[in-house]
Amino acid sequence: MIHTVDIRIFQEGEVIFEEGDASDFAYIIEEGEVEIYTSIANERKVLNVLVAGSLFGELAFVDKQPRTASAIAVKRTTLTLITQQQVDERIRDADPILKMLLYVVMKHFRSEVARARAQYSPLKRQDIIPDAEKFNQLRVNEAVAMARTEAELRTAINNNDFRLFYQPIVELKTEAITGFEALIRWKSPKRGLLPPADFILIAEATKLILPIGDWVLDTGLSAIKRFNEKMHKDFSISSNIARRQIEDEDFLPSVVQKVKANGLDVKEIQLEILERNFLIQGKMQDWISQCTRQGFSIALDDFGTGYSSLLYLQQFKPKVLKIDRSFVTGLPFNADSRNICKAIIDLAQNLGIRVVAEGVETTAQQKALIELGCIYGQGYLFSKPLPEDEMLQYLEKKK
Ligand code: C2E
Ligand code: CA
Ligand code: CA
Repeated sequence: MIHTVDIRIFQEGEVIFEEGDASDFAYIIEEGEVEIYTSIANERKVLNVLVAGSLFGELAFVDKQPRTASAIAVKRTTLTLITQQQVDERIRDADPILKMLLYVVMKHFRSEVARARAQYSPLKRQDIIPDAEKFNQLRVNEAVAMARTEAELRTAINNNDFRLFYQPIVELKTEAITGFEALIRWKSPKRGLLPPADFILIAEATKLILPIGDWVLDTGLSAIKRFNEKMHKDFSISSNIARRQIEDEDFLPSVVQKVKANGLDVKEIQLEILERNFLIQGKMQDWISQCTRQGFSIALDDFGTGYSSLLYLQQFKPKVLKIDRSFVTGLPFNADSRNICKAIIDLAQNLGIRVVAEGVETTAQQKALIELGCIYGQGYLFSKPLPEDEMLQYLEKKK
């Protein structure tokens, strides 16, 4: 439902907006009549006459372009105003495929207006139209690809086509394994083994991430039990959590349930969150306190790549912070990377937060991190993410 905020009355012949104006409002006609017209080669062309119950001026909200037509009250007219903000919030939260299609339709409409205008314009038709069409085709292709991936993901859930890989998190000095991060793959019958980059954003943008996330936790928790049994340890397991999972009220109780069912300890369960998945501040704080009360650890993932990370450290007091790979890559020679890593490590340690360095690929990086005081690391140097059976073999060799 769109809330109504404001009512305006226009007298007969009064202009509501003109072609080229910035788009501030959309309107619902409560009473009266409105003519929508455009001027082509100084000639007035009536596009539409709208009566009570019609909505107009909404196009501009979607693509933020100036008005492409003018509107005038034919008789005394009462209008309800809809603000840009009301529409923006809805578009932002809309399903991504729907959003894409909406843009396509809007763009299509605009290119039709441009086409009509071009017939009268001294400019050549080709100068106006191809760009819009090219843009449209790209958007259509994108929307189609997303819709297809979404449909395939639904099938993948039913067919159990996901695989979970495990990457060890180690103590940098001793290389002793302290836990594992669970990383999902999609074994698509058509496209082979796909990394999360190829599908996770679509899953996260739709509700599909909920059953997928559920599967990840079920699978990961039962695997960790076997890793523990093999090595007689209490390894931790880290799982990446999407925004929709945080928002889902059933999520935490269901994780508690899974932890119990597997005979594990909640404190070995680490939930990794990206800054882009944060809820608004108050809600995020509530959620994190809930997690902490239940005994879960929270890890801030890709730390240093967001924009207000320092504030989050103070407010959310996560247990773990993962230094993004982009900073580790520059070690040991790049002075900026070194300084940034040093600053993050010192700050976190002063706040009592554990630091895990991501993407450690060389012994030189390992050494540099140890010198900087970092205790934990994860990366190809120690092991790539492996499926359960290969991880069990790897652990066997480490025994
Ligand atoms: P992430 O959480 O930052 O995970 C670390 C990524 O870095 C993984 O990519 C891992 O394979 C890769 N990596 C680890 N060590 C190295 C290294 O030494 N060098 C290099 N170049 N890369 C390294 P992956 O598995 O492709 O996952 C990508 C992202 O997908 C993850 O980034 C995470 O944000 C997301 N993701 C993975 N699994 C899940 C999941 O179950 N749920 C959700 N919501 N997101 C997931
Ligand atoms: Ca992660
Ligand atoms: Ca990360």
